Amino acid sequence: MVRSPLREVTPIPAGATLGVMGGGQLGSMFAMAARRLGYRVEAISDVADCPAALHADRVHVVPYADATALERIAAGLAAVTFEFENVPVEAARAMAAIIPCRPAPDVLFTTQDRAREKAFLVSHGFACAPHRTVRSREQLHAAVAALGLPAVLKTAAFGYDGKGQRKLESPPDADAAWGALGPAECVLEGWVDFDCEISVVAARGQAGEVAVFEPSLNVHSRHILDLSSAPSGLPQPVLDEARDVTARILEALGVVGAACVEFFVTGSGAVLVNEIAPRPHNSGHLTIAACETSQFEQQVRALCGLPLGPVSQRAPAAMANLLGDCWAAGEPDWPAALAVPGVSLMLYGKSEPRPGRKMGHLTALAPTVEEALANVTRARALACRPS
Ligand code: AMP
Repeated sequence: MVRSPLREVTPIPAGATLGVMGGGQLGSMFAMAARRLGYRVEAISDVADCPAALHADRVHVVPYADATALERIAAGLAAVTFEFENVPVEAARAMAAIIPCRPAPDVLFTTQDRAREKAFLVSHGFACAPHRTVRSREQLHAAVAALGLPAVLKTAAFGYDGKGQRKLESPPDADAAWGALGPAECVLEGWVDFDCEISVVAARGQAGEVAVFEPSLNVHSRHILDLSSAPSGLPQPVLDEARDVTARILEALGVVGAACVEFFVTGSGAVLVNEIAPRPHNSGHLTIAACETSQFEQQVRALCGLPLGPVSQRAPAAMANLLGDCWAAGEPDWPAALAVPGVSLMLYGKSEPRPGRKMGHLTALAPTVEEALANVTRARALACRPS
């Protein structure tokens, strides 16, 4: 699905240097896509040994609080983007004062805080879980009384992969959860009894055109994404609604770049927005092997004012994350995994395989999504030998 352009833009020419705030695997895959399109890439990270160092032309290791250093770096770039939403908004604003930052720092501001993101969703009429913002133990008790249990308490800021979350099953859990997460501002969400979780990656260009990828079906394990597959097999009206909501969210936020909207799908087929990520997303990694244009190439194209690419999928696909746990018995058996038909491997170049750390992913393409899922899980089981 591609919505048509609204106005002319002047593209950033090949050979120019692009910046990416953040040095993780998303920055690394952005750099790969950017270099293929002829750009130089400089990553800005607060750690030297980062995945982006593998593919960026240069990594600037600076604290995000050092506005002077960021402005000096910005002076050497044509434009900048970010690869994770915990980049301080002040850092994005410091760079945006010198060069275009896409998506704009205001998008980061809204989406890096669950309370602000929920307020955005509510004010625009996008359906999400019932919730209350809580700033004290008393407010938490009032929110529990209003929403009922079970519920999930989430810190408003700096949460990812289930970090900063506590499920509340019975009233005494409230004090324990507040003890663990307070006094930071939190959001209490009513429990959504969902059938499944899907996500939709889309890109929006500088002229306002939007390209929406096929929604993917996501399975989490220990709060971390485990498997994504597309097509999801869900009824067409559900998929149409999720794609339409995603496009309208990108428009309402004014995103220029790639972004992902995660949804809960209920038994009645309602889609509730769970989270917005204003950048490429783990569930979109299968677009690298499966789609005519990857989510990272879309991010580069949007940043640089190039036409967005076609998002059609070449074949049904499934992606399995490779966490550090897979290294428990030493280096995984990649030859065994790669012998499975249609399987490709992406490793992020992280030196320390800690449990729960995202180290890479496998993607399988197959004639059916069931085969793709079976092959990617078989490939992972073959690679990750038990210790
Ligand atoms: P999040 O970090 O908000 O994406 O939450 C991580 C995972 O926790 C989600 O993908 C869901 O599987 C689960 N979860 C989060 N919020 C809720 C909720 N309100 N109701 C049910 N499950 C939830």
